[in-house]
Amino acid sequence: APFIHLNDVSLRYGESGEGVEALKRLSLNISRGEFTAVVGPSGCGKSTLMRLLSGLTPCSSGKVCIDGKQVNQPLKTVGMAFQNSALLPWRTALENVLLPLEVVEPYRRDFRRDKARFVERARALLARVGLSGAEDLYGWELSGGMQQRVSLCRALVHEPEILLLDEPFGALDAFTREELWDILQQLWLDRGFTAMLVTHDLPEAVYLADSVHVISERPGYVVHTSHIDLPRP
Ligand code: ADP
Ligand code: ADP
Repeated sequence: APFIHLNDVSLRYGESGEGVEALKRLSLNISRGEFTAVVGPSGCGKSTLMRLLSGLTPCSSGKVCIDGKQVNQPLKTVGMAFQNSALLPWRTALENVLLPLEVVEPYRRDFRRDKARFVERARALLARVGLSGAEDLYGWELSGGMQQRVSLCRALVHEPEILLLDEPFGALDAFTREELWDILQQLWLDRGFTAMLVTHDLPEAVYLADSVHVISERPGYVVHTSHIDLPRP
Protein backbone atom coordinates (compact mmCIF):
# COMPACT_ATOMS: atom_id res chain seq x y z
CA ALA A 1 0.00 0.00 0.00
CA PRO A 2 1.26 3.52 -0.72
CA PHE A 3 2.62 5.50 2.23
CA ILE A 4 0.35 8.48 1.56
CA HIS A 5 -3.01 7.66 0.02
CA LEU A 6 -5.78 10.12 -0.84
CA ASN A 7 -8.91 8.63 -2.28
CA ASP A 8 -11.57 10.85 -3.83
CA VAL A 9 -11.00 13.64 -1.33
CA SER A 10 -13.13 16.75 -1.32
CA LEU A 11 -12.93 19.61 1.12
CA ARG A 12 -15.37 22.43 1.51
CA TYR A 13 -14.57 25.17 3.99
CA GLY A 14 -17.18 26.58 6.37
CA GLU A 15 -18.98 25.38 9.50
CA SER A 16 -21.51 23.19 7.75
CA GLY A 17 -19.68 22.85 4.46
CA GLU A 18 -21.44 25.77 2.75
CA GLY A 19 -18.19 27.61 1.91
CA VAL A 20 -15.62 27.39 -0.86
CA GLU A 21 -14.92 23.95 -2.29
CA ALA A 22 -11.13 24.03 -2.00
CA LEU A 23 -10.49 20.48 -3.23
CA LYS A 24 -12.72 18.34 -5.37
CA ARG A 25 -12.35 14.59 -5.82
CA LEU A 26 -8.59 14.47 -5.52
CA SER A 27 -6.88 11.08 -5.55
CA LEU A 28 -3.16 10.74 -5.01
CA ASN A 29 -0.65 8.05 -3.98
CA ILE A 30 2.84 8.74 -2.69
CA SER A 31 5.49 6.17 -1.79
CA ARG A 32 7.55 6.27 1.37
CA GLY A 33 10.69 8.31 0.88
CA GLU A 34 9.45 9.96 -2.31
CA PHE A 35 10.00 13.65 -3.00
CA THR A 36 6.82 15.03 -4.54
CA ALA A 37 6.13 18.50 -5.85
CA VAL A 38 2.67 19.97 -6.19
CA VAL A 39 2.20 22.79 -8.65
CA GLY A 40 -0.87 24.70 -9.75
CA PRO A 41 -2.40 28.17 -9.91
CA SER A 42 -3.15 30.23 -6.83
CA GLY A 43 -6.32 29.06 -5.13
CA CYS A 44 -6.32 25.51 -6.56
CA GLY A 45 -6.02 24.00 -3.08
CA LYS A 46 -2.33 23.35 -2.56
CA SER A 47 -2.20 24.74 0.98
CA THR A 48 -5.43 22.94 1.74
CA LEU A 49 -3.81 19.67 0.65
CA MET A 50 -0.93 20.34 3.07
CA ARG A 51 -3.36 21.03 5.88
CA LEU A 52 -5.16 17.74 5.15
CA LEU A 53 -1.91 15.80 5.30
CA SER A 54 -0.83 17.48 8.52
CA GLY A 55 -4.13 16.43 10.07
CA LEU A 56 -5.00 20.03 10.91
CA THR A 57 -8.13 20.06 8.73
CA PRO A 58 -10.42 17.07 8.14
CA CYS A 59 -11.74 16.39 4.63
CA SER A 60 -15.45 16.71 3.89
CA SER A 61 -15.58 13.42 1.99
CA GLY A 62 -13.18 10.75 0.80
CA LYS A 63 -10.26 9.27 2.65
CA VAL A 64 -6.76 10.43 3.66
CA CYS A 65 -4.44 7.67 4.88
CA ILE A 66 -0.84 7.78 6.00
CA ASP A 67 0.98 4.50 6.52
CA GLY A 68 -2.30 2.62 6.30
CA LYS A 69 -4.03 4.65 8.99
CA GLN A 70 -6.76 7.18 8.36
CA VAL A 71 -5.72 10.70 9.31
CA ASN A 72 -8.16 12.33 11.70
CA GLN A 73 -6.06 14.37 14.10
CA PRO A 74 -2.87 16.48 13.98
CA LEU A 75 0.07 14.19 13.27
CA LYS A 76 3.37 14.23 15.11
CA THR A 77 5.13 12.43 12.27
CA VAL A 78 4.83 15.58 10.14
CA GLY A 79 7.11 18.61 9.97
CA MET A 80 6.14 21.81 8.17
CA ALA A 81 7.88 24.82 6.65
CA PHE A 82 6.24 27.84 5.03
CA GLN A 83 7.03 30.78 2.79
CA ASN A 84 6.80 33.02 5.80
CA SER A 85 9.38 31.26 7.94
CA ALA A 86 7.47 32.35 11.07
CA LEU A 87 10.51 32.43 13.33
CA LEU A 88 10.15 34.16 16.66
CA PRO A 89 12.33 37.29 16.33
CA TRP A 90 13.29 37.46 20.01
CA ARG A 91 14.45 33.88 20.13
CA THR A 92 17.80 32.76 18.86
CA ALA A 93 18.21 30.45 15.86
CA LEU A 94 18.82 27.53 18.23
CA GLU A 95 15.80 28.40 20.41
CA ASN A 96 13.63 28.62 17.30
CA VAL A 97 14.71 25.15 16.19
CA LEU A 98 13.90 23.75 19.64
CA LEU A 99 10.44 25.29 19.69
CA PRO A 100 8.41 22.28 18.49
CA LEU A 101 10.05 20.13 21.17
CA GLU A 102 8.87 22.54 23.84
CA VAL A 103 5.31 22.65 22.57
CA VAL A 104 4.37 19.21 21.25
CA GLU A 105 3.75 16.16 23.45
CA PRO A 106 5.38 13.70 23.88
CA TYR A 107 8.54 15.56 22.86
CA ARG A 108 7.85 18.14 25.57
CA ARG A 109 8.30 15.56 28.29
CA ASP A 110 11.40 14.04 26.70
CA PHE A 111 12.86 17.48 26.11
CA ARG A 112 12.55 18.53 29.76
CA ARG A 113 14.07 15.26 30.86
CA ASP A 114 17.01 15.24 28.46
CA LYS A 115 17.50 18.74 27.13
CA ALA A 116 21.19 18.28 26.32
CA ARG A 117 20.47 15.52 23.80
CA PHE A 118 17.95 17.65 21.88
CA VAL A 119 20.15 20.74 21.97
CA GLU A 120 22.89 18.59 20.46
CA ARG A 121 20.50 17.40 17.76
CA ALA A 122 19.41 20.98 16.96
CA ARG A 123 23.04 22.14 16.77
CA ALA A 124 23.89 19.29 14.42
CA LEU A 125 20.98 20.24 12.16
CA LEU A 126 22.03 23.89 12.12
CA ALA A 127 25.56 22.81 11.21
CA ARG A 128 24.10 20.59 8.46
CA VAL A 129 22.44 23.61 6.81
CA GLY A 130 25.57 25.75 7.11
CA LEU A 131 24.63 27.77 10.20
CA SER A 132 27.44 26.79 12.57
CA GLY A 133 28.32 29.91 14.50
CA ALA A 134 24.90 31.48 13.94
CA GLU A 135 23.09 29.45 16.64
CA ASP A 136 22.87 32.39 19.02
CA LEU A 137 21.76 35.05 16.54
CA TYR A 138 18.23 36.31 17.14
CA GLY A 139 15.51 35.65 14.57
CA TRP A 140 15.39 39.32 13.66
CA GLU A 141 19.10 39.29 12.90
CA LEU A 142 18.87 36.55 10.27
CA SER A 143 18.67 37.11 6.49
CA GLY A 144 15.77 35.59 4.56
CA GLY A 145 17.91 32.65 3.43
CA MET A 146 19.15 32.02 6.98
CA GLN A 147 15.58 32.15 8.28
CA GLN A 148 14.54 29.46 5.83
CA ARG A 149 17.49 27.31 6.87
CA VAL A 150 16.40 27.63 10.48
CA SER A 151 12.83 26.93 9.44
CA LEU A 152 13.94 23.64 7.77
CA CYS A 153 15.79 22.65 10.95
CA ARG A 154 12.75 23.45 13.08
CA ALA A 155 10.56 21.34 10.79
CA LEU A 156 12.96 18.38 11.14
CA VAL A 157 14.07 18.58 14.78
CA HIS A 158 11.52 15.99 15.98
CA GLU A 159 12.62 13.70 13.13
CA PRO A 160 9.29 13.54 11.29
CA GLU A 161 8.58 10.91 8.64
CA ILE A 162 6.94 13.51 6.39
CA LEU A 163 8.14 17.01 5.56
CA LEU A 164 5.54 19.40 4.13
CA LEU A 165 6.92 22.49 2.42
CA ASP A 166 4.54 25.28 1.37
CA GLU A 167 6.49 27.55 -0.99
CA PRO A 168 9.39 27.75 1.45
CA PHE A 169 11.68 29.57 -0.99
CA GLY A 170 9.11 31.76 -2.74
CA ALA A 171 10.32 34.99 -1.16
CA LEU A 172 14.05 34.42 -1.74
CA ASP A 173 16.25 35.80 -4.50
CA ALA A 174 17.24 33.34 -7.23
CA PHE A 175 20.79 32.78 -5.95
CA THR A 176 19.74 32.10 -2.34
CA ARG A 177 16.89 29.89 -3.57
CA GLU A 178 19.26 27.61 -5.47
CA GLU A 179 21.52 27.31 -2.41
CA LEU A 180 18.49 26.25 -0.42
CA TRP A 181 17.53 23.66 -3.06
CA ASP A 182 20.83 21.90 -2.53
CA ILE A 183 20.52 22.07 1.24
CA LEU A 184 17.02 20.63 1.15
CA GLN A 185 18.03 17.90 -1.30
CA GLN A 186 20.98 16.94 0.90
CA LEU A 187 18.76 16.76 4.01
CA TRP A 188 16.33 14.57 2.12
CA LEU A 189 19.09 12.25 0.84
CA ASP A 190 20.59 12.00 4.36
CA ARG A 191 17.41 11.44 6.28
CA GLY A 192 15.06 9.67 3.92
CA PHE A 193 11.86 11.43 4.96
CA THR A 194 8.95 11.70 2.54
CA ALA A 195 8.71 15.24 1.19
CA MET A 196 5.91 17.21 -0.39
CA LEU A 197 6.77 20.61 -1.82
CA VAL A 198 4.18 23.14 -2.91
CA THR A 199 5.69 25.60 -5.36
CA HIS A 200 4.87 28.02 -8.17
CA ASP A 201 8.34 27.50 -9.57
CA LEU A 202 8.47 24.70 -12.15
CA PRO A 203 12.31 24.60 -12.32
CA GLU A 204 12.29 24.15 -8.53
CA ALA A 205 9.81 21.27 -8.80
CA VAL A 206 11.83 19.61 -11.56
CA TYR A 207 15.14 20.09 -9.73
CA LEU A 208 14.00 18.64 -6.42
CA ALA A 209 11.18 16.20 -6.98
CA ASP A 210 10.85 12.58 -8.13
CA SER A 211 7.35 13.29 -9.27
CA VAL A 212 5.26 16.36 -9.94
CA HIS A 213 1.53 16.56 -9.38
CA VAL A 214 -0.21 19.26 -11.33
CA ILE A 215 -3.46 20.47 -9.82
CA SER A 216 -5.41 22.68 -12.16
CA GLU A 217 -8.59 24.59 -11.69
CA ARG A 218 -11.03 24.02 -14.52
CA PRO A 219 -14.53 25.28 -15.25
CA GLY A 220 -16.83 23.32 -12.99
CA TYR A 221 -14.18 23.48 -10.30
CA VAL A 222 -12.86 20.02 -10.97
CA VAL A 223 -9.31 19.39 -9.79
CA HIS A 224 -7.13 17.27 -12.05
CA THR A 225 -3.95 15.62 -10.97
CA SER A 226 -1.37 14.19 -13.26
CA HIS A 227 1.70 12.31 -12.26
CA ILE A 228 4.94 12.87 -14.15
CA ASP A 229 7.90 10.69 -13.33
CA LEU A 230 11.18 12.50 -13.79
CA PRO A 231 14.58 10.91 -14.08
CA ARG A 232 16.86 11.98 -11.22
CA PRO A 233 20.21 13.52 -12.14
P1 ADP B 1 -3.51 27.48 -2.88
O1 ADP B 1 -2.62 27.08 -1.74
O2 ADP B 1 -3.39 26.58 -4.06
O3 ADP B 1 -3.36 28.92 -3.24
P2 ADP B 1 -5.61 27.22 -0.94
O4 ADP B 1 -5.60 25.81 -0.47
O5 ADP B 1 -4.97 28.25 -0.06
O6 ADP B 1 -5.02 27.29 -2.42
O7 ADP B 1 -7.10 27.68 -1.19
C1 ADP B 1 -8.04 26.96 -1.99
C2 ADP B 1 -9.38 27.67 -1.95
O8 ADP B 1 -9.93 27.61 -0.64
C3 ADP B 1 -9.28 29.16 -2.27
O9 ADP B 1 -10.48 29.51 -2.95
C4 ADP B 1 -9.23 29.81 -0.91
O10 ADP B 1 -9.72 31.12 -0.96
C5 ADP B 1 -10.09 28.90 -0.07
N1 ADP B 1 -9.65 28.84 1.34
C6 ADP B 1 -8.40 28.54 1.78
N2 ADP B 1 -8.33 28.53 3.12
C7 ADP B 1 -9.59 28.83 3.53
C8 ADP B 1 -10.17 28.98 4.83
N3 ADP B 1 -9.48 28.79 5.94
N4 ADP B 1 -11.49 29.30 4.88
C9 ADP B 1 -12.21 29.46 3.76
N5 ADP B 1 -11.72 29.34 2.51
C10 ADP B 1 -10.42 29.02 2.40
P1 ADP C 1 -1.35 30.56 -0.24
O1 ADP C 1 -1.77 30.90 -1.64
O2 ADP C 1 0.12 30.61 -0.03
O3 ADP C 1 -2.01 29.33 0.27
P2 ADP C 1 -3.27 32.46 0.69
O4 ADP C 1 -2.96 33.92 0.61
O5 ADP C 1 -4.20 31.81 -0.27
O6 ADP C 1 -1.88 31.71 0.72
O7 ADP C 1 -3.84 32.14 2.15
C1 ADP C 1 -3.21 32.58 3.32
C2 ADP C 1 -4.05 32.13 4.50
O8 ADP C 1 -5.38 32.65 4.42
C3 ADP C 1 -4.20 30.63 4.59
O9 ADP C 1 -4.01 30.22 5.93
C4 ADP C 1 -5.62 30.34 4.13
O10 ADP C 1 -6.17 29.24 4.83
C5 ADP C 1 -6.34 31.61 4.49
N1 ADP C 1 -7.39 31.88 3.50
C6 ADP C 1 -7.25 31.91 2.17
N2 ADP C 1 -8.40 32.15 1.56
C7 ADP C 1 -9.33 32.31 2.54
C8 ADP C 1 -10.72 32.58 2.56
N3 ADP C 1 -11.42 32.74 1.44
N4 ADP C 1 -11.33 32.66 3.76
C9 ADP C 1 -10.62 32.49 4.88
N5 ADP C 1 -9.31 32.22 4.94
C10 ADP C 1 -8.66 32.12 3.78
